[in-house]
Amino acid sequence: MRTADTAGLIDRLGRLIGRPGLVVDREDLQRYAGEPRGRYRELPLAVLRPASTQEVAAVVMLCREHGVPIVPQGGNTGLVGGQSVRRPGREVVLSLERMREVRSLDAEGASMVVEAGCPLATAQFAAESAGLLLPMSLASEGTATVGGIIATNAGGHLTVRYGNMRRQVLGLEVVLADGRVLDGLTALRKDNSGYDLNQLFIGSEGTLGIVTAASLDLVSSPRQSMTAFIGVRDLAATLTLLRLIRRQLGETVSALELMPRLALDFVLEELPDAHDPLVRPHPWYLLLQADTAVAGDWLRGACARAIESAGEEGVAADAVVAGNDTQAQSLWRLRESIPPAQKRGGVSLKHDISVPVAAIPGFVAETCSALERRVPGIRPCVFGHVGDGNLHFNLSQPEGMAADDFRALEPDCNRIVFDAVQRYRGSIAAEHGIGQLRAAELAGRTDAVRLELMRRLKSALDPEGLFNPGKILAEADTEDGACG
Ligand SMILES: Cc1cc2nc3c(=O)[nH]c(=O)nc-3n(C[C@H](O)[C@H](O)[C@H](O)COP(=O)(O)OP(=O)(O)OC[C@H]3O[C@@H](n4cnc5c(N)ncnc54)[C@H](O)[C@@H]3O)c2cc1C
Repeated sequence: MRTADTAGLIDRLGRLIGRPGLVVDREDLQRYAGEPRGRYRELPLAVLRPASTQEVAAVVMLCREHGVPIVPQGGNTGLVGGQSVRRPGREVVLSLERMREVRSLDAEGASMVVEAGCPLATAQFAAESAGLLLPMSLASEGTATVGGIIATNAGGHLTVRYGNMRRQVLGLEVVLADGRVLDGLTALRKDNSGYDLNQLFIGSEGTLGIVTAASLDLVSSPRQSMTAFIGVRDLAATLTLLRLIRRQLGETVSALELMPRLALDFVLEELPDAHDPLVRPHPWYLLLQADTAVAGDWLRGACARAIESAGEEGVAADAVVAGNDTQAQSLWRLRESIPPAQKRGGVSLKHDISVPVAAIPGFVAETCSALERRVPGIRPCVFGHVGDGNLHFNLSQPEGMAADDFRALEPDCNRIVFDAVQRYRGSIAAEHGIGQLRAAELAGRTDAVRLELMRRLKSALDPEGLFNPGKILAEADTEDGACG
């Protein structure tokens, strides 16, 4: 964009959305530029904070007229740089943070309409107040927004039972690249009247439209809950354990989280008040949660019996079942603390991947051996949502190796991990998305037909490349590139 136009655009935006809606001060822009992993920090030209769907539509039209690309942003908790500017001073961030209302909640119909900038925790609380559950939970839920969670089709530890965010969305309100509003805020569970347009925007990471509100499906709140921490000797036994637990506890199973001993060691070092829940160390651990909306007092007994039979079959080495909410929370704290605690192990190269559940033992063994051959002493810290086949395949630096030397090996490690993922027909981006971090990887590894369809969708919905250029589809991959 020409410099002369910049002042004109800022001036017009100021008149449109007023002072609270426009951030241009360099210091204030920093807050929207950093992101959780500190990889991206370019400053936008400005941050636009519209307060209504109409204002979003109006700023989109204005930016389009001036040829300035828009980077949508929710809670800025994304881990792949989708919400971050790529070209400093040449793109604007459109933050949904002033659109955070719960517009309505229908307790009888078990649904709610929420604005995109509403933090997930606020939406969860509103549902809970009506005796309902919004079945989506992640460690970033205090800050991550409903719009961001939809745009990334986030998953969390409840995915194994309720699916990713896609499953909770009944309808969407979206501002399109030409400024028109697609009003799809229905609460219908059945609607086969043509293509399901919601699905285009869910998981599109802000590249096809700006989600301004969503109608969400709710379920009954749990009335019994149970959490257990189980020690396991290896991954093959873990899979047998999963099968056994699912057979005995059926649809009450709502979380199945895997962690290795290395992760527990990091966490126990990080949290001085925490302790190992089991007497002896085990190579792997499974964190199990089961819930039911059916009243009664039978779930804990059923879980204890399932774990007991797993012990008898030799697939559970030891276990503890939480006796109350506080104990359950301490077990969950061990799992949630892995990402920050990993810093104890120095640099961590992170891969958010998935493979078919049955392939996990072979995939992990094969990939870890290949990594050890390339980087002797490398410490894989593989944890995650094992029930969905989603592993955070993180690699801690070898003890004694310099941080920069290990960072320099990142391309080699990525190649080893992603080649193996491809061989096992897995995904290089299981839940965090592609953003800018994995855009080149996607371009290089995706089937040509799939890539071509994605490009066509992008150019049909956003022909001028206004929304989030260079995200998902690497710049060379978009037909038009950015409009600015
Ligand atoms: C501690 C921690 C734990 C996490 N755990 C998980 C986890 O378990 N599972 C998981 O899936 N992710 C997890 N994440 C990643 C992150 O929280 C999710 O991706 C989340 O969905 C991002 O929401 P957000 O509001 O912060 O979006 P942002 O980070 O602001 O944006 C993410 C992407 O969505 C786009 N976007 C945001 N809002 C809109 C909108 N209204 N319309 C269109 N596009 C939009 C952005 O352009 C960007 O591409 C975690 C992150 C942290 C820091």
